[in-house]
Amino acid sequence: MREYKMWINGGWVGAESGKTYTVVNPATEEVIAKVPLGDKADVNKAVEAARKAFPTWAGKSQVERSDIMNRIAHAIREHAAELAEIETMDHGIPQSSAIFMSYAAAEKFEWAAYASKNIYSNGDVLTLQPGNKILLQREPIGVSALITPWNAPLLMVAAKLSVSLSLGNTCVVKPASITSLSTLKLGEILEKLDLPAGIVNIITGPGSTVGEALSTHPDVGLIGFTGSCETGKRIMELASRSIKRVQLELGGKNPVIVLEDADVDTAAEKSVSAQLENTGQVCASPGRFYVHTRVYDEFLEKFISGANKFIVGSPDEKETQIGPVVSAEHRDHIEKLIKRGIEEGANLVLGGKRPTTPPLDKGYYVMPAVFTGVKQSMTIAREEIFGPVACFMEPFSSDDEVIELANDNAFGLSAYVWTRDTAKGLRFADRICAGTVRINKSGGPMDEVPWGGFKESGIGKDGSKYGLEDFTQLKVISVDTTA
Ligand code: NAP
Ligand code: MG
Repeated sequence: MREYKMWINGGWVGAESGKTYTVVNPATEEVIAKVPLGDKADVNKAVEAARKAFPTWAGKSQVERSDIMNRIAHAIREHAAELAEIETMDHGIPQSSAIFMSYAAAEKFEWAAYASKNIYSNGDVLTLQPGNKILLQREPIGVSALITPWNAPLLMVAAKLSVSLSLGNTCVVKPASITSLSTLKLGEILEKLDLPAGIVNIITGPGSTVGEALSTHPDVGLIGFTGSCETGKRIMELASRSIKRVQLELGGKNPVIVLEDADVDTAAEKSVSAQLENTGQVCASPGRFYVHTRVYDEFLEKFISGANKFIVGSPDEKETQIGPVVSAEHRDHIEKLIKRGIEEGANLVLGGKRPTTPPLDKGYYVMPAVFTGVKQSMTIAREEIFGPVACFMEPFSSDDEVIELANDNAFGLSAYVWTRDTAKGLRFADRICAGTVRINKSGGPMDEVPWGGFKESGIGKDGSKYGLEDFTQLKVISVDTTA
């Protein structure tokens, strides 16, 4: 079993306390590594290193920083297979998806390198009166704390780190404690590139200590966070003490609206994939299906038949499409919600049990599940399940009503509309309260396109020039040119 260290100020160190914790392979339940149990003392060291590194890093030209981002991307590509193996072992994501995520992580750095140099505007000039020029200048903020979730560990870190670092901030990364190994491997990759000490620091340990210490540290200027709504609220509260900038990518309970004129085959096929991808541990997963009464039976039947075809298996096997969920704790959370759904009167028409046949009798597996008859007030209609569980709401017949029901939720991350009438789809999009509305399509966000929620799903964006703006602050310099 390998014992890891944290990456602070360009060196590998254990926790000041000397404590460690163990991490488990969710497919086998075996302990795979020991990781330092960081706490406030380690956070202080990392923030101090990042603070000291900031002036020099921020003072480099954008061309130089972008070159470094491209070197990082290249090194990630070279280690893609190794990173994917670590991700599968630590997170349980099937190899086929894990390798795709390694390359997607490299693309984040390539995108940041290009966008921060060529697309993003870090300045403007206003000439409102003769003799007066107003320079608008975007600057890095300083030390950024990047706190990320376990559902796509390396990719989530890459999304924040690439942008923040590229724009001249220095970074303290806190990956989710149960899935920090791919981020620590990224630290080893960065070490070989001989980057300035302190520009990237990686601290391992739980949110309750490491995350809170980062969120309250006076020298942290920005928190880039992806995770649950509950933690986002806590971070905002802690960050308010010193008015830190917060960029929050939080949860969703994403409505899928299937209209009576939808291409039911395509809608069902794509919705199954969107629901079961990464064992449902995706923020954009369908959370609530609203299907028109005229196509409800056909859509449901096709959805169930599609879900039945998905191969649940060991994440190391090539043909596996769905691996285990990330931890025993998360499996228990999903099972608790399934139980609550049944108690509150929804009908469990597919799955939801643990597999019992070896080798799947070990590991944190949950079979794909489908509920029907879900009512708006039920827990499973309101809370994010973050697992392979589809919730079919009662069939609808009124467009106005379904839009109201879709919007009746605290989250506003994303939504899906299926219709052959694109103009109608666009009218729905205007009225749906979500950061992203997809019409006749599903699939992940692209780096070029902003991603971020409305309402309790977050503040700010990942990706695109808008996402880049979140990692800078705007300075106004007003000059009297006649003086
Ligand atoms: P989480 O429980 O909120 O944890 C996210 C990160 O916050 C982890 O690193 C966690 O540390 C840390 N943390 C926990 N408590 C903290 C505190 N009091 N102060 C500071 N940091 C703290 O989320 P998760 O369970 O890992 O991930 C699932 C959630 O992420 C879902 O809600 C999902 O929708 C959301 N998500 C959103 C997006 C998006 O783009 N909108 C993308 C992916 C995931 P430890 O876990 O180490 O304790
Ligand atoms: Mg959590």
